[in-house]
Amino acid sequence: MKTTDKDHAALANEFNKDAPRVDWHDETLWWVRQKRDNAVKKIPGWEELREAGSQIKNNVLANLSGYLKQFEANAQANGVHVHWAIDAKEHNEIVLELLQSNGVKKIVKSKSMLTEECNLNEYLNLNGVDVIDTDLGEFIVQLANEHPSHIVLPCIHKKKEEIGELFHQHLGTPAGNADPVFLTETARRHLRETFLTRKAALTGVNFAVAETGEFVVCTNEGNADMGAHLADIHIASMGIEKIIPKRKHLGVFLRVLARSATGQPVTTYSSHFKTPRPGASTHIVIVDNGRSKQLGREDFRNSLKCIRCGACMNTCPVYRRSGGHSYNNAIAGPIGSILAPNLDMKKHADLPFASTLCGSCTNVCPVKIDIHDQLYKWRQVIVKSGHAPVAKKAAMGAMTRVLSSPVSYKVAGKLGRLMMKRAPFAVNNQFNPWYKQRELPVVPENSFGEWYKKNRNNKPKDI
Ligand code: SF4
Repeated sequence: MKTTDKDHAALANEFNKDAPRVDWHDETLWWVRQKRDNAVKKIPGWEELREAGSQIKNNVLANLSGYLKQFEANAQANGVHVHWAIDAKEHNEIVLELLQSNGVKKIVKSKSMLTEECNLNEYLNLNGVDVIDTDLGEFIVQLANEHPSHIVLPCIHKKKEEIGELFHQHLGTPAGNADPVFLTETARRHLRETFLTRKAALTGVNFAVAETGEFVVCTNEGNADMGAHLADIHIASMGIEKIIPKRKHLGVFLRVLARSATGQPVTTYSSHFKTPRPGASTHIVIVDNGRSKQLGREDFRNSLKCIRCGACMNTCPVYRRSGGHSYNNAIAGPIGSILAPNLDMKKHADLPFASTLCGSCTNVCPVKIDIHDQLYKWRQVIVKSGHAPVAKKAAMGAMTRVLSSPVSYKVAGKLGRLMMKRAPFAVNNQFNPWYKQRELPVVPENSFGEWYKKNRNNKPKDI
């Protein structure tokens, strides 16, 4: 994806300039979170399902190479070609080679966050291959020359009027028509023609079953099925962590995925791909791109259990009010903030700090990833590795010295109270972002310690 030098705070500031947009972005995602809560309450044993999902994924991570080899052997026995890519570059080269060797210059693609991670669209475009994203949300952000801002709801940051304008410019719809039904129908007709004329289709993979060599793709629009079934060549890109051991485990993951993502009981289409149809070919590109490295980081390996439901984003107060693009990474939100530093710690050093550590992400995660603990641990790793901003490091160093000495703490408290009374501008000024939207509290006469000593210290213990 396109990157910028700006950090999360600067990009969030840009998003925050449009206050009404921030409000409905926040409210819409909270509404999705509430739909998730209602769906979860309707099935007994939700916590048991979460535990089962977590344990299955723990087993996968502990035996990953064995399951991958089993999957490869079974997929090959099904007539599927299996390719291995160590990183994004190799993934893109494999896809391009497959397309060029078959004389393909145009492809359809359904939603795949892995291809976003690999910058596949840009790479293929540079090499003369035209890519059309067929998921409606992705189609819209592609028209806008943007990247998805959410892994499940790619254009959640866009107002319907903006989408109407995009369709007017690119698809010739009447100016000012922002009716969602009309716009969806227009996209559908436009994409139908595209589906019929493309020789190759690329999809992501939600789950790859080691036991059978099949893979499952979940969509609500059926666009992955339409692409894969009409094209002669189906290329499926999957991260190494998408493996599950047995087909019966789908019963756990399909139930938690849709409920966590959108509050649906199940995704509209959960399509199983096993053997290519006669005359067609299927290729699976299995990608590492830093995942083995994350697997080797004891504190962070659990992040590979993620099934990309997006629930941690919908619940995150920071994500909801800063927007997905502020993370400057293919995967935004809390999960993106623990995956991104693994790929480039220096570039993404700001992300683990873009959290209140409230733990809401951990509470909703259907596979029990300890997200907020990992965010906290990443902060320590980043500071120790020297990637924290100089000002933050100096401030934290000073804070450590003050908080570790009772005398310094008392003196600092007195000085702070005095300064806030006599020279409040020293604290509340344009250079202090904390007070941009806050007012100084009323300064107390004494510290709590002083008050306690005066009022409580000599009283009997049971008061
Ligand atoms: S970390 Fe958990 S909640 Fe967040 S997207 Fe992944 S599975 Fe969903």
